[in-house]
Amino acid sequence: MWTDAPRATPGQAAPALRFEQVTRRHDGVSALDAVSLQVESGVFVALVGPSGSGKSTLLRLANRLDRPDEGCVLVEGRDVAHGDPVQLRRRIGYVFQNVGLFPHMSVAENIAIGPRVAHGGDIDVATALEEVGLTAEHGARRPAQLSGGQQQRVGIARALAIRPRLLLLDEPFGALDPVTRDQLGHTLRRLHDSRGLTTVLVTHDMNEALLLADRVVMMNQGRIVADATPREMLHGLAGAEADTLLAIPRAQAARLAELAQ
Ligand code: ADP
Ligand code: MG
Repeated sequence: MWTDAPRATPGQAAPALRFEQVTRRHDGVSALDAVSLQVESGVFVALVGPSGSGKSTLLRLANRLDRPDEGCVLVEGRDVAHGDPVQLRRRIGYVFQNVGLFPHMSVAENIAIGPRVAHGGDIDVATALEEVGLTAEHGARRPAQLSGGQQQRVGIARALAIRPRLLLLDEPFGALDPVTRDQLGHTLRRLHDSRGLTTVLVTHDMNEALLLADRVVMMNQGRIVADATPREMLHGLAGAEADTLLAIPRAQAARLAELAQ
């Protein structure tokens, strides 16, 4: 059960998510190397970095799909190592890159099953669909009868159906075309704001990170190498690694502006 006492000082809200000196090794190689990160409640964080830098490992530790070798992970002030992982996962919305909808169930059933298993309750599926820009007609279909973007919308609706306060998304838009990606990004940000969520979005798209997030955390080789607001990043205040990653979107924006003249 979820019984251990929160570590936060009384009267102060605990951060939604906190990693304290977290190390995770595979065969002696550090996927994460003494990572410390605190995400305050209500903040939208984009987690960026090259493939293999430890982004997915970080998310998986929050949901206890993986365990740290050293350090600890706190969700709303509680160490996830204690307590029941099933209870933990009922408090966290998780969206995967490959969506992972149940193929034999309708879209509506895919959305309704989480809350039913978690608290035995039914949710308003029509509203849940509407919130992510779909209709009841989509709800009647099987996942395979939707486009990739629509499936990812269902993935978000399903993650939110359990009414989590913390939403973790691991490259959810990776396989989508730029227009769909942009639209889904806006949908996600709107839901983040209207639901008062704390969101961690893993993306390899720097523009997406800068345009959607309140804070951009950059990883490389299992470490956090930059952590700043989009504005700070764009003003060159986030360090050399950030500047290197920003060089491409900057150059593209400049070339587009030039072309438009
Ligand atoms: P990212 O999501 O940023 O691409 P990951 O967190 O998936 O990175 O992986 C970080 C590092 O840990 C990579 O070098 C990866 O190969 C390694 N790794 C992750 N999971 C495993 C595993 N189960 N077994 C061995 N190595 C792993
Ligand atoms: Mg990954």
